[in-house]
Amino acid sequence: MRPGQFKPYYIYRYLRWKLGDKRPLSAVAKVTSECNLKCDHCPWWGRDVEDNTTEGWFEAFQKARDMGATHLILEGGEPTNREDIDDLISYGKDLGMLVMMITNGIKDLKKHDPDSYWISLEGFGKTHDENRKEGVFERIVENIKQYPQVNKIVGVTLNKRNSHQVEKIASFFSPITDGVWFNFMYPYQDSKNLALPLTEQNNIAKRIIELKKKNEYNIISSYSYLNSIANKRKKEDCPSFLTLLIDTDLTFHQGCTVEQIEECRCEVCNLACYGELTEAMGLNIDSLKFLKKTTGLDDRLLWLN
Ligand code: SF4
Ligand code: SF4
Repeated sequence: MRPGQFKPYYIYRYLRWKLGDKRPLSAVAKVTSECNLKCDHCPWWGRDVEDNTTEGWFEAFQKARDMGATHLILEGGEPTNREDIDDLISYGKDLGMLVMMITNGIKDLKKHDPDSYWISLEGFGKTHDENRKEGVFERIVENIKQYPQVNKIVGVTLNKRNSHQVEKIASFFSPITDGVWFNFMYPYQDSKNLALPLTEQNNIAKRIIELKKKNEYNIISSYSYLNSIANKRKKEDCPSFLTLLIDTDLTFHQGCTVEQIEECRCEVCNLACYGELTEAMGLNIDSLKFLKKTTGLDDRLLWLN
């Protein structure tokens, strides 16, 4: 039985987390550092680290499951680049995990069978292609339209280049996907010029709230998270322990993704995954719905039925 199919399971986990249990919910596995796009600005492809074997990943997934993770996110590089990706998906499912794959969306979506896809966008149309490759945006749209039955959301990390396209992205992708998700770029030292200032992030969050209120768009970012953009975050409030990061060399890191790269500054962080988790831990229903959507929990959380 997969954990999500046992309805009270997440209530049990929630109570344990509240009592101080620090077991993770999601394992994010960088299964490859290869990518079929090789975008100029991307730090992930071509890293000096060899991809691990199928068996190595099976062991890592088992370890993550033993640690408590029930949700497996496969990313890279581009995970579909691995020839054994179907074996990795099946293994995760056999362990009882719900499997999501983050992809650049250019390979045929029907070829693999994760519980859901997360297609990452750099922006709309040319803005996307300027950061990826010419023709990629069109290919993604074709791919999405070709397989309406495949469960997929699009995710956009907002920055100075694409934040003016919020409405365009929401209106175009709402009818053809299972949801549009917005994130705000963290001002890492090497990308701080591209990240939006906090006041600007707050204005954009308000704009997204207005769009959501119209009910015309399928924006899955929660009101609770969008409203929280106005607040300064604190490390002690962030349930980053819910995330387990597994690097290509199979090293495990539980907690904040920022601190893997540099010292974290919570007061400038609006990373949506952690922001939504914070709100969900506060039992805000719309953030729980966001988790339900992105972790593939379907209708299985008792309090959401
Ligand atoms: S598609 Fe994504 S993972 Fe691949 S090179 Fe571009 S940014 Fe990096
Ligand atoms: S930097 Fe962001 S993700 Fe990291 S601990 Fe702080 S609030 Fe959480």
